[in-house]
Amino acid sequence: MSQIMEGKVAVVTGASRGIGKAIAVKLASKGATVVINYNGSEAKADEVKHEIVEKGGCAQCMQCNVADYEGCEAFIKAVIEQFGRIDILVNNAGITKDDLLMREEDFSDVIDVNLKGTFHCIRFASRQMMKQRSGKIINLASVVGISGNAGQVNYAASKAGIIGMTKSAAKELASRGITVNAVAPGFIETEMTEVLSDKLKEEMRGQIPLARMGQPEDVAKAVAFLASEQASYITGQVLRVDGGMVM
Ligand code: NAP
Repeated sequence: MSQIMEGKVAVVTGASRGIGKAIAVKLASKGATVVINYNGSEAKADEVKHEIVEKGGCAQCMQCNVADYEGCEAFIKAVIEQFGRIDILVNNAGITKDDLLMREEDFSDVIDVNLKGTFHCIRFASRQMMKQRSGKIINLASVVGISGNAGQVNYAASKAGIIGMTKSAAKELASRGITVNAVAPGFIETEMTEVLSDKLKEEMRGQIPLARMGQPEDVAKAVAFLASEQASYITGQVLRVDGGMVM
């Protein structure tokens, strides 16, 4: 196990499954102590912790609904009390509630989790990072936040908002040694995309030059790069991990 992140504390929101799980496992494999955040899936978060510990890594599960402002404040406070610092924050927690614009009724839910949740965690974790005068924040956007997508007005708005937030936060926090970047995945095989019809999946695959759906591991590798010292001169950027889907 390479230990290039030894001594680093990483918080990954929504790490009980899918992309967040792959990121947590990847950062732990590089030696970081990982806080596995989840909202409702305690048993799954525990499984992620066990997987990391079995491989010789360090991890701790912590429940928090990222949409809850006070909850996030308490969550980040608990991380600092337990581990003393936060070096890496990955804002991965996200939901979809897809529908056509005219039928849209869940706009707030998606904005509250995806966009406000990202803001809440940045706000509280960056206080600690400012004291440390170092930190790496990586936000999960989506190519849909760049290209738009019919039936995803709420989700695309939340992800476009994350891109604007990433660039603004990068400018505000750069002088304190904190980098802020976004990763914009394309079509990745997780529970989020499992619900799509086979016809739609086939259509999506047809739009990907690399001709396959992405795996959570594909995204985790990009996040691990942005969280590493190799990316120390990169901030305010949006790295697309989409097999060439949106260029
Ligand atoms: P997923 O399989 O549905 O997993 C979502 C994760 O977020 C779960 O761990 C879930 O935990 C957590 N979560 C949801 N609401 C939460 C809340 N209020 N507070 C804390 N945690 C919460 O999704 P995924 O496909 O891995 O997606 C991960 C991220 O990548 C999301 O931001 C998504 O928008 C983005 N993304 C995904 C794709 C894709 O194709 N899959 C493409 C572009 C971007 P609980 O079960 O405990 O709630």
